[in-house]
Amino acid sequence: MLSSTVVELPLRSLPVETNDVAQQCLALWHGMGLFDRPKVGWLPGLPLPYQKFLELIFDTSHHHVDAIVFADPSRTSVLHDLRAAPGSMLVPIIDLTGRATDFADVRFDIADRDSWAQTARRILDFRERRRQLGPAFATPAAPEMELLAHSFVSGRTLAAQYSASIPETVCYPGYPPARVTIPLAEGLVRRGLLKKTFFDRLHECGACGSRRLLVREECPACRSANLHEVALLHHYSCAALEAEDNFRQGSALVCPKCRKQLRNYGKDYDKPGVTQVCRQCTAASSEPEIGFVCLDCNARADGQSIRCTDLFSYDLTDNAIALLTSHVKPLGLRDLPTSLTAAVDRLRHNSSHLPLAILEVRYEAQDVLCETRGALVFEKLRTLFIENLANNLGDHEVSLHIGNDCEYLLVNGYEASTFGRTQRLLQQCEDVLSDRLRPIVRVLARSRRGKS
Ligand SMILES: [Zn+2]
Ligand SMILES: [Zn+2]
Ligand SMILES: [Zn+2]
Repeated sequence: MLSSTVVELPLRSLPVETNDVAQQCLALWHGMGLFDRPKVGWLPGLPLPYQKFLELIFDTSHHHVDAIVFADPSRTSVLHDLRAAPGSMLVPIIDLTGRATDFADVRFDIADRDSWAQTARRILDFRERRRQLGPAFATPAAPEMELLAHSFVSGRTLAAQYSASIPETVCYPGYPPARVTIPLAEGLVRRGLLKKTFFDRLHECGACGSRRLLVREECPACRSANLHEVALLHHYSCAALEAEDNFRQGSALVCPKCRKQLRNYGKDYDKPGVTQVCRQCTAASSEPEIGFVCLDCNARADGQSIRCTDLFSYDLTDNAIALLTSHVKPLGLRDLPTSLTAAVDRLRHNSSHLPLAILEVRYEAQDVLCETRGALVFEKLRTLFIENLANNLGDHEVSLHIGNDCEYLLVNGYEASTFGRTQRLLQQCEDVLSDRLRPIVRVLARSRRGKS
């Protein structure tokens, strides 16, 4: 029998019964349909203390792996980067440390038979779903396609979660860090492959982008948080309305405006409420302002100037699942959006004989913007640009299709003047943006009679 006093993991030395335990584990897996020892890779490296045991139940000699075993004994390793390892998106991460929680797909503990079964089940689930992936996704190359395939294979949505340990303060357990995941996910939303649901609206530092902010009430005059509440005093005869402190002279109340002494509450004066007085600059105000201090860079901001960002969770759409499990080869022209190839097919099948053209719109400023302002800023600008473009097409003979890093216009009835008109339209759509995207258009494909 297995007893937890015999094998304690992690970190104790291996017991003599290791071999027996390994045999029990393998027998259980066999009974569940996991016939071969799972091929695994180690994160960060082979964990020497219990290497012998692990080598009995896992096959560690392959490059193509079934799972990644997270076994970093250090308490400081960053869980948000677990999925940063290349090739880790289509296999489960098995947590040996007991501290990876949601960031891993399953926890494995030698002393816990249930965890053996859960581990086998996860490996088998991932295998089964990998099998359902179409050929285009079996070895996905583009990072956004990897993200999509991972969501399908792991059965996990991109569920946002607060995380105080990183400046973004949000993470998507099981996925790459938010700074990587969000721009990819936003691109996939635009293409109709993910749908998003609101998670929260967070404020962020204008100087460093951190969302770890201190929120407090501040003096509107000097922005100090050193406020204290005092009673307001109203002198009837001269209409002075000031903090009680300003009337106080020893035990007497003397009006600072008219110098009369106040004697009878209700007759000479009353106390209509309280006010906040600043100990820094002595200014009084009945409504202090909200201010923010960045905990990462100390920058300050007030409620008017602070930047807000909406954050979302993401989930696969039916279109995405259809695309992921499609075993039909996409149309020849590279990785065109499915909406575009479908529209081309439709035009081919109806009797239109108008010349057809596919125009491609790329952004010359993409690299520079991503480098200087960040991928998310670029994606936001691009979203606005696309919105402008869609609003201004207005023409039933032109349809817009969103690609991975470029857009496509399908023109039914292409003529000599179309190109110049399109260039002017793109110009007009970017003129209203805060930064220049420098859209460039080119003719990707053309036909005389509705064939591309
Ligand atoms: Zn900051
Ligand atoms: Zn007075
Ligand atoms: Zn002040």
